[in-house]
Amino acid sequence: MEKQDILSMNLPELQAALTAFQVPKYRAGQIYRWLHVRKVRSFSEMLDIPSKLRSELDSAFCIKSLFVAKKLASCMDDTVKYLYRLPDGQHVETVLMHYKHGWRLCISTQVGCKMGCAFCASTIAGYVRDLTPSEMLLQIDETERDAGVTISGLVLMGIGEPMDNFDNVMRFLELLSDPEGRQMSLRHVTVSTCGIVPRIRELADRKTGLTLAVSLHNPTDAARSKIMPVNRRYPLSELMEACQYFFETTGRRVTFEYAVMEGENDSDADAAALAKLLRGRGAHVNLIPVNKVRERSYHATRRAAQDFMQRLERLGVHATVRRTLGSDIEAACGQLRHETEKDTG
Ligand code: SAH
Repeated sequence: MEKQDILSMNLPELQAALTAFQVPKYRAGQIYRWLHVRKVRSFSEMLDIPSKLRSELDSAFCIKSLFVAKKLASCMDDTVKYLYRLPDGQHVETVLMHYKHGWRLCISTQVGCKMGCAFCASTIAGYVRDLTPSEMLLQIDETERDAGVTISGLVLMGIGEPMDNFDNVMRFLELLSDPEGRQMSLRHVTVSTCGIVPRIRELADRKTGLTLAVSLHNPTDAARSKIMPVNRRYPLSELMEACQYFFETTGRRVTFEYAVMEGENDSDADAAALAKLLRGRGAHVNLIPVNKVRERSYHATRRAAQDFMQRLERLGVHATVRRTLGSDIEAACGQLRHETEKDTG
């Protein structure tokens, strides 16, 4: 029988699973705290658990771990990019960034991606599988351990579409913020989506306190559908309604991501259409010059992104050009994994 992934279980599930071992109820809480507060990597380290139970746990459950397969530190800033090897030999990327207020981590939610966005390296080789809640938690734990830092902010903007791995992402967030465990406030968490409308609504209904970022990249349906296939299923009108619902339900403003691609989405007409789309929403737009992906021809200078920002501001839209951290270490989404798989595969 396959061992159960104990780090993905919440406390009630662990309690239920432990009834088979006929141990007092408080044992589940002890084990849960070893896993999520002291973050041990083996049952043998759980010192207040009787050794017989420890070896029984060892045969029924596994504590997953990740290994650093590659690590690239930027020479230009404090950004570090990790390529983690998962227990089944797959790889995902995690990026550690230093901000004024502390350390922020960008984690992956899937191995590969199904969404097919034309400018994104994560999707080129297609989708392999979803990450488990434990594999998302371990990206934080292993990075904190390796870098000797405490992560204070988290963005789900690495490889994968979080809203396409909804249940595992929700469990991850539950474990992350559990008062009995890790106690991270979800106010410091941003989830980014390409625009899976029903999931945006479901996320709103959960009232988790997190920030939602929506990857927009183009303000018109025809052009957006060309670079983001998800738009054919959920066009802009439905997406914007869902964003409005998110704001009304949670009181949290949605931020919009816009990768400037010269000659594709940065004309005066694009700025005007974007301003019209966002008018009256008090929305904030994060601009980023598109990162070059070898297989694609999209490009933009920082200057082009700044120009576009100025045009938006003149039209009354709040926009900032995001700092491009770690541009020397291929910190763009999915590039490191993609290059590695190509070299080895
Ligand atoms: N699937 C989610 C989250 C992962 S992608 C989403 O689509 O939002 C994280 C962000 O990086 C998204 O805004 C995505 O559109 C953007 N992105 C992907 N490839 C990029 C590139 N080459 N240059 C700039 N941004 C890119």
